[in-house]
Amino acid sequence: MGISRRNFLKGGGLAAGAVAVTGKPVRAEVQSEAIRTKGLQTSTTICPYCAVGCGMIVHTKNGKVVNIEGDPEHPINQGALCSKGSALFQVANNERRLTKVQYRAPKSDKWEEVTWDWAMERIARNMKETRDRNFVKQEKINGEMYTVNRNDGMAMIGAAALDNEECYLVGKFARAMGVGYLEHQARI
Ligand code: SF4
Repeated sequence: MGISRRNFLKGGGLAAGAVAVTGKPVRAEVQSEAIRTKGLQTSTTICPYCAVGCGMIVHTKNGKVVNIEGDPEHPINQGALCSKGSALFQVANNERRLTKVQYRAPKSDKWEEVTWDWAMERIARNMKETRDRNFVKQEKINGEMYTVNRNDGMAMIGAAALDNEECYLVGKFARAMGVGYLEHQARI
């Protein structure tokens, strides 16, 4: 329904009159929250972008994300989100989002679609070969030989999206591979 400028001003005048007569503003009953999320499934999550770790509420319908917003009950952000977190919905729903593994062979000028199995196998093989080629078992320090079991040909970096347990596992894995160059995105 359209509303003319005249009627709008009239309404404002009536509201002001109500305040003037009663001494307090009249509270409008609004059920917008209930209407907005009616029929949707609600779950909570943590923003994957940075180490602040803001809490979010995700609304889904038939398995599809239809809304993401800040969680007012989360102690870190109390409902607020930065611009990046506010736009997270666009990560879940984006026609440009890659859903298949893409591979570009050395010296090739095009990407090709490969399976996860193929990609995982190749990554594992390359990592093993790199480790074996660069492994330093012993090193002379101040004239003495020491066992160092170090892999100088590899570096690893953790991302802020990792939680405590994932960081623990990545750290363990890196050290098992002999990686000394181990860093975290938030420290760089
Ligand atoms: S909403 Fe912004 S500040 Fe909060 S975790 Fe995400 S990126 Fe970091």
